[in-house]
Amino acid sequence: MRSETALRERMAEHGKALFDRGLTFGTAGNISVRLDDGWLLTPTNSCLGRLDPARIAKLDDQGRLLSGDPPSKEAFMHRAVYEERAGAGAVVHLHSTHSVAVSCLHGIDPANVLPPLTAYYVMKIGTLPLVPYFRPGDPALGEAIREHIAKTPAVLLANHGPVVAGKSLDDAMYATEELEETAKLFLLLQHHRTRPLTPEQIEDLRAHFPS
Ligand SMILES: [Zn+2]
Repeated sequence: MRSETALRERMAEHGKALFDRGLTFGTAGNISVRLDDGWLLTPTNSCLGRLDPARIAKLDDQGRLLSGDPPSKEAFMHRAVYEERAGAGAVVHLHSTHSVAVSCLHGIDPANVLPPLTAYYVMKIGTLPLVPYFRPGDPALGEAIREHIAKTPAVLLANHGPVVAGKSLDDAMYATEELEETAKLFLLLQHHRTRPLTPEQIEDLRAHFPS
């Protein structure tokens, strides 16, 4: 694992990259990384484009603030992921436009929102359950995330945005970007006849690239 200092700097680099590309805006979105002695989370009301690595919140396993600025109010969502997914080393949550747009569509399949349009989406995300809408900060949202996140690395919060776990911060970031681009493709293809990957093609991917 990278040192805590290096992880803090990497969080700020990724935050700025997300902001510069329009994947986050204002004070929306948050990023966390698991440490040996707790976890790091971006502060409440912070802009991901201008994070100060030294002021990123450090929390203990119970979610109590150890140092840094007060954490995001969405801390309970990150904690739910770490408690349910032993292998999760980082979590990214965004209000990224295309994913949120998909989360607002009528008639999407709540068991798996996006079709398997590309191989990389299947490899990085695979299945994307929809978590019902809850008011921001409602602890019931954490419980709803727990119902799915042990079985799949990502969930889509209805009328809100994605929550994506990865083995490392880089893995979580790249999976989040893959999800956002796939949501964009899905919206581009609305009202077009599409040809998603077949069950055989998905099976072949899983055999060659086990997660
Ligand atoms: Zn949010």
